[in-house]
Amino acid sequence: MARIMRAVIFDLHTHTTASDGALTPTELVHLAHEHGVDVLAVTDHDTVAGCAEAMDASEKNLNIVPGIEFSTTWAGRSIHIVGLNVDPENPELLSGVKEQQCTRDARAREIGRRLTRLGIDDPYPAVSQTAGDAAIGRPHFAAHLVDKGVVKDTATAFRKYLGSGKLGDVKLGWAALADVIAWIHAASGVAVLAHPAKYKMTMTKLRLLAADFVAAGGDGIEVVCGQQTPDVTRRLADVARDLDLAASIGSDFHHPAQSWSRPGSCGLLPKDLRPVWESW
Ligand code: AMP
Ligand code: MN
Ligand code: MN
Ligand code: MN
Repeated sequence: MARIMRAVIFDLHTHTTASDGALTPTELVHLAHEHGVDVLAVTDHDTVAGCAEAMDASEKNLNIVPGIEFSTTWAGRSIHIVGLNVDPENPELLSGVKEQQCTRDARAREIGRRLTRLGIDDPYPAVSQTAGDAAIGRPHFAAHLVDKGVVKDTATAFRKYLGSGKLGDVKLGWAALADVIAWIHAASGVAVLAHPAKYKMTMTKLRLLAADFVAAGGDGIEVVCGQQTPDVTRRLADVARDLDLAASIGSDFHHPAQSWSRPGSCGLLPKDLRPVWESW
């Protein structure tokens, strides 16, 4: 009898408790395995701290790809670059990580100061304690605002106080695009422009960003990220073809309660594209 082969499931964008994800690396690996993921990249915000545990927890038939999601700024906007298949012990990468963590901490202190304008005590000490060793970010502040009864949920916290252009959206010096890409390359990784559709740019603007990303040495683009419409996938695939970028796919998983971003839930890449894993 002929064996029925199923497509290999890649999920190359996920978060753990090393940044703003809800699951430990071990829990994430188990969940991804349950969902039939074959290749899982752990890509926490500005840290590789979850990679070693994920690799140790790796189940049979599940390959772990060490990764990172770096924050950077382009044209005054916050842009994310995913580094895949990096050596998490590379000194240049780790020095970049340290720089970004200093920026994160300074930013968190400023977010705390600004939120006192809402008539609450400076949340920084409490939020920093809750975050512990994790890369501190706006989701930690959102949780605090929910906790203190300032807002009813995380979505409201972002909409009113933490989202783009709001009081707690502190634009502080993330590393430049070229630096972030250079750190990823130093660690033998592939640099991928993350979730292009989430920036809510016009296609003209997005193509400018993608061109600058290529000029800075970028390698790939997330053609599929989480649940998106076929139309978005088609447009992003066009960008990948036109700029000869490799294509990546990931859920951007943060929390099991977010049904739209289960590990491995985002489908397949258009077949004609060159996948980021081609050279692995
Ligand atoms: P930061 O790393 O501090 O810039 O925070 C960015 C993170 O906040 C993203 O990676 C998401 O996990 C989360 N986030 C951004 N916007 C929203 C939103 N509207 N609702 C919930 N979480 C969000
Ligand atoms: Mn996040
Ligand atoms: Mn992101
Ligand atoms: Mn992400």
